[in-house]
Amino acid sequence: MNHLDASQFLTDQHFTTDVVIIGSGAGGGIAAEQLSNAGFKVLLLEEGAYYKREHFVMEERWAYPNLYQEGAARKTKDQAIGILQGRTVGGSTTVNWTTSIRTPQPTLDYWQAEFGLDFTVAHNLKPYFQFAEQRLNIKQWALAPNANNAKLEYGCQQLGWQYTVINRNVSHCANLGYCGMGCPIDAKQSMLVSTIPAALQKGARLISRLSVRKLVWQDDKIQSLEAVPVDAHFQPTAAVKVSITAKHYIVAAGAIGSPALLLRSKVPNPSGRLGKHTYLHPTVISGALFAEDINGHSGAPQSIYSDQFVWPADSSQLGYKLEVPPIHPVLMASKLIGMAEQHAELMKSFNQLQVTIALMRDGFHEQSQGGQVSLDQEQQPVLDYPITDYLWQGMRQALLSMAELQFAAGAKQVLPLHHDAKLYNSWAEAKAGIAQLSLTALRQTVVSAHVMGGCNMSASADKGVVNQNGRHHQLSNLSVFDGSILPTSLGANPQLTIYALVWKHCQHLIAELTPVLEDSSFRE
Ligand SMILES: Cc1cc2nc3c(=O)[nH]c(=O)nc-3n(C[C@H](O)[C@H](O)[C@H](O)COP(=O)(O)OP(=O)(O)OC[C@H]3O[C@@H](n4cnc5c(N)ncnc54)[C@H](O)[C@@H]3O)c2cc1C
Repeated sequence: MNHLDASQFLTDQHFTTDVVIIGSGAGGGIAAEQLSNAGFKVLLLEEGAYYKREHFVMEERWAYPNLYQEGAARKTKDQAIGILQGRTVGGSTTVNWTTSIRTPQPTLDYWQAEFGLDFTVAHNLKPYFQFAEQRLNIKQWALAPNANNAKLEYGCQQLGWQYTVINRNVSHCANLGYCGMGCPIDAKQSMLVSTIPAALQKGARLISRLSVRKLVWQDDKIQSLEAVPVDAHFQPTAAVKVSITAKHYIVAAGAIGSPALLLRSKVPNPSGRLGKHTYLHPTVISGALFAEDINGHSGAPQSIYSDQFVWPADSSQLGYKLEVPPIHPVLMASKLIGMAEQHAELMKSFNQLQVTIALMRDGFHEQSQGGQVSLDQEQQPVLDYPITDYLWQGMRQALLSMAELQFAAGAKQVLPLHHDAKLYNSWAEAKAGIAQLSLTALRQTVVSAHVMGGCNMSASADKGVVNQNGRHHQLSNLSVFDGSILPTSLGANPQLTIYALVWKHCQHLIAELTPVLEDSSFRE
């Protein structure tokens, strides 16, 4: 039996392994397969549950409390930004929307200039993008886009704006549209159905419902880790204690969970950057009512994007990427503005609603330095993300672009999701209305499904937490392999970047660890 559910442990437990991986999402999943293939004893730890396709009933009321951090209601400290993150075996990849995009070259160029990270020669990412694309069946979506995406495509065509058909990590996809609730037919090639079962097949062990609380370290080495099972609401309990000793420790708990664990462990932090510079692609939303049905709950959730505004000619301006989200009733009702009858009226038009989103490319400007993860009294993470004037200005521009696009695509009315906005009847009316909106926290709806940074890579130890191979700058047997190592946001959806980086980092780790682990004195 290579899966254990920690909530069933009745007594304290101790495990020993070659490599322990904390978190089973994009980073943890790739690492588990790579290291198991290389012959290492791998122990994969996950605070979420081990749910599989038979549990995925395509209902929001089940999915959000069971598959998402904080029941899909995670927010920044001032409540101004809603954050979607997975918390289940497979992490966010189990619930994500399958868009798979390579790291944009301008982002890699920026990392080289600012953080000394050279991903061209020895660390060339290209082969690793190809490996990941092959492993996860990442291919351009061949079916017609659903109406929600088709409006984005048509609006771009009308305005002469750039757009691209999205590559997705799916196999035999039935075009259901419920990716965010876990794929009920295993079509999505998440970590849950690809790398994790392959690793288990190779002898890796998985412990679910186990929350890692602390890394115990001395001098330049992690000695052990301490963990506890979670309760039925996925909160850490003190029922029993679990300790684990490994030769190497990989933290892959996501860009809020990883910095939080390292902060709880009080690891060395001479750069002062641990938990800082957390990026979100802060996202603003524009609804549009069409005469015909859009049914945005049905069909591949994301199949078209537009990069028309991601890399503005004036590099001091904030860039943003245009996409659409899946439109499901609970998700939408919680983001739609207005109260009582006004809200109910909008929800009545739910099936005619098209929704466009603009993802801000944060982290490339002095006024866009991201957020900071700290710990609350229960030692749980809190993300403070101040929205600067620079970001608000970019968001206003993005609201204007989305309204222009939606009217060009034939919308009858457009509604930016802002508490003071109204349904605008024409592009001219929207333009005037959006210019007047006071863009402030809690009046403007802002969301994120892309959490990045907090343990950033850097060539030199004074500019980051880990090096170009994801190895901690100070602790020799610690790696961080997840979205937290990204030095900025990407200007593209992050999963493929994380897969490729972690795949590459694993090759380096395997080469380094193999001789150490062949020394039988380590193995019991
Ligand atoms: C709804 C949604 C849609 C998305 N759509 C897309 C998309 O279409 N394309 C794309 O590229 N990206 C998308 N993303 C983002 C993408 O999935 C993430 O960027 C990526 O999965 C992050 O990988 P990660 O390894 O950093 O963290 P995650 O995949 O989030 O995994 C981290 C795991 O660590 C676990 N963990 C945390 N703390 C602990 C602890 N103390 N002990 C044990 N376990 C712990 C968590 O429960 C979680 O399972 C989406 C995300 C969401 C939520």
